Amino acid sequence: MDLGIRGKTAIVCAGSKGLGLGCATKLAEAGVDLVLNARSEGPLEAAAAELRKFGVNVQTVACDITTTDGQARVLDAAGSVDILVNNAGGPPPGMWSDWERDDFIKALDSNMLTPIAMMKACLPSMMENGWGRVVNITSVSVKSPIAVLGLSNSARAGLTGYVAGTARQVAEKGVTINNMLPGIHATERAISLDAGAAQAQGKTVEQIKIDRCATIPVGRYGTSEEFGAMCAFLCSQHAGFIVGQNILLDGGAVNTTM
Ligand code: NAP
Repeated sequence: MDLGIRGKTAIVCAGSKGLGLGCATKLAEAGVDLVLNARSEGPLEAAAAELRKFGVNVQTVACDITTTDGQARVLDAAGSVDILVNNAGGPPPGMWSDWERDDFIKALDSNMLTPIAMMKACLPSMMENGWGRVVNITSVSVKSPIAVLGLSNSARAGLTGYVAGTARQVAEKGVTINNMLPGIHATERAISLDAGAAQAQGKTVEQIKIDRCATIPVGRYGTSEEFGAMCAFLCSQHAGFIVGQNILLDGGAVNTTM
């Protein structure tokens, strides 16, 4: 299917690895020029080199997207933005009784206030152009809380509320905002969470993986490619009627009817 977005420009935040890279790859495959961000220069440049093989222009901005300076640098590099994919690292696991105010502020900065700041910066010109697409990578924890990820549960719920109202205010200008909710995907983040669980439970990482796969009806972790394909579709010309949705990609793990 031709996604109809060849020649558009996208910012992909936190895109050198994992789900962000999956999104960047599928957008590049559809002919979208990219501004790609992550903190570490080596993996960022390596990812950009691969993406350029699709014949698109890829600029890199190595910075922490959760800082105002980092956000400004990414926005400056992009100029006019058609597509914004918001992403950042997830907060660390722990117990509800562990976290203090500063831990919450950090999680809110990463997973709520940064995507909101990026949207506030990009939405006016998208609305003026009469076309725009925003996809926020959030988490399955928005629909089904993950006990050890209370910081993520909290911050992402805040972003979800903001998107629910905002998406409906910008839609008449041809701009859509949607959230993608990953369940367990085979990325470095998942591997490090598996390692943490293995240590906590005195099991091998392989056993933890088997246990977690057993909680997913599909019987395996998701892939960044599958995730990226949905992102590219949401950013396509075909997705203009999909507004303010929270799309779960979890292999059926959340046991709900709707
Ligand atoms: P990942 O494999 O660890 O990749 C994270 C990417 O983000 C890397 O490119 C990393 O590069 C970049 N990054 C992290 N913090 C950043 C920052 N402050 N500024 C700029 N770039 C940053 O993680 P992932 O699995 O793709 O997860 C992506 C998001 O989805 C996270 O918020 C995670 O919590 C959420 N999620 C993931 C899963 C899953 O199963 N994978 C499930 C639910 C939710 P640098 O380190 O070089 O900056």
